Amino acid sequence: MQTIDIKTTSKLTPITKPWMTDLMSNQVVLNELVVKYGSPINIHNLKTFSENIQNFKDVFSYFNIQSQIYYARKANKTKALAKQALANDIGIDTASYNELKQAVELGGKDNSVVLTSAIKTEEQIYLAIANNVTIIVDNDDECQLINRIAKSISKKAKIGFRISGFLINGKKLYSRFGFDVDTVVDYIKDNVGSDKNYNSLTVIGLHFHLDGYSIEHRGIAAIECMTIAKILRDALFPITFVDMGGGILINYLKEESEWNTFKDQLIQQTILEQEHLTFKGDGLGFTKEDDKIYGKLDTYPYYNSINGTNFLKEVLETKHPITQISVANMAKENDIELRIEPGRSLLNGVGITVSKVAHRKKDSKGQYLVGLEMNMTQMKTSSADYLVDPYVLYNNDDDKEVENSNPVDVYFTGAYCLERDIILKRKISLPKLPEVGDLVVFVNTAGYFMHFFETEAHLFELSKNLIYAPEKQVSLLNFIDDERII
Ligand SMILES: *Cc1c(COP(=O)(O)O)cnc(C)c1O
Repeated sequence: MQTIDIKTTSKLTPITKPWMTDLMSNQVVLNELVVKYGSPINIHNLKTFSENIQNFKDVFSYFNIQSQIYYARKANKTKALAKQALANDIGIDTASYNELKQAVELGGKDNSVVLTSAIKTEEQIYLAIANNVTIIVDNDDECQLINRIAKSISKKAKIGFRISGFLINGKKLYSRFGFDVDTVVDYIKDNVGSDKNYNSLTVIGLHFHLDGYSIEHRGIAAIECMTIAKILRDALFPITFVDMGGGILINYLKEESEWNTFKDQLIQQTILEQEHLTFKGDGLGFTKEDDKIYGKLDTYPYYNSINGTNFLKEVLETKHPITQISVANMAKENDIELRIEPGRSLLNGVGITVSKVAHRKKDSKGQYLVGLEMNMTQMKTSSADYLVDPYVLYNNDDDKEVENSNPVDVYFTGAYCLERDIILKRKISLPKLPEVGDLVVFVNTAGYFMHFFETEAHLFELSKNLIYAPEKQVSLLNFIDDERII
């Protein structure tokens, strides 16, 4: 086996949008923003969001199929993005009462909103039915409740059935969500319709949202759903759409080689039981037992050569194993509207998180710890680490000084009184040690990272969300506090 150097901290260079690099070169304004709004701040660019929407629309136009895109609202908390989604003529995928209520208040109704919550309360259901919003159902208890509520207000509820358990290479894909693919047709035929138990439900579509990021699995699931749609239509259920959910991959990193090197290094570190690359030698999913390496990288796959629109294209080009008809052609031939619910991929390049350096210290192992005015919940997803290099903006930074200064390796630490509040578990190599008041910028954080697990422990305030519309001359006036969006 080739020897892998784990003592040199590898780079994971991010892909950045021009608005991000322009803004980062304007440190005076960023400093002012942190003074005004506190640290960290999340800055969003709506133009990039609109471009992402248009790019997905173009894919569907290319295939000439009926489609609808729903922005998965849960991936980011700002209201401005929900508003922008509607302004760009796409819908909003909501998963709580407040998400649904906000979408409705912004003018969403009928086909511009869908309700997909994991737990559906009566108030969500009332609001959805009142606004003619399709509800994606997950189990029999929900059907019963929705039917009762619809009947009580003499309305019909528009329903999509969430389906799971697709057979992939002889194995069922497990999910805690949805009706099983093998029984859903009988269930609908037995229970839904004017002469059945659930006579206030109208089934108009089928839905799936797969865990993981397999193109093939999405293609197979879409084909299965369209096959079921045909069967249900023959039984006179007015199925119009198949919703393929989200999970469209994005690419965070410039260099595949950096990504591969890091993964190799991580395994090597685990084999050698050392701690050069990650805090306390965290294997980020890899463990060693009895001299064997177990596990797999427990993070988002940050490098992806197939991502965004190409990912969607490949799903649409996936062929039925027997008929050899593609997802796109099957949708066209059967007059089925294909829907997607992208969260992360619509937010690609849309946001950055800016944080202020509070202190530097050397720990008892001789490692530099750089304390930031933020906490780990403000840069977190279910992923074990954010494997993308941040930028440090030095307030005192004539180039000469950087050249003469000593590069250092640091860990960024957070404000929660927990040993494990390490903002990035990965060690970061910097041209020189930051000073108190310098800024650290994490790029491409709008999809989940900045918001999804954010908490208010210690009574810390939630981070401020700003909407940034670039102008030639950048000033505080270009930033709008999301709380002021109406
Ligand atoms: C989370 C979720 C999405 C969005 O997933 P992304 O990976 O952000 O695209 C879409 N639909 C449903 C039902 C979800 O639960």
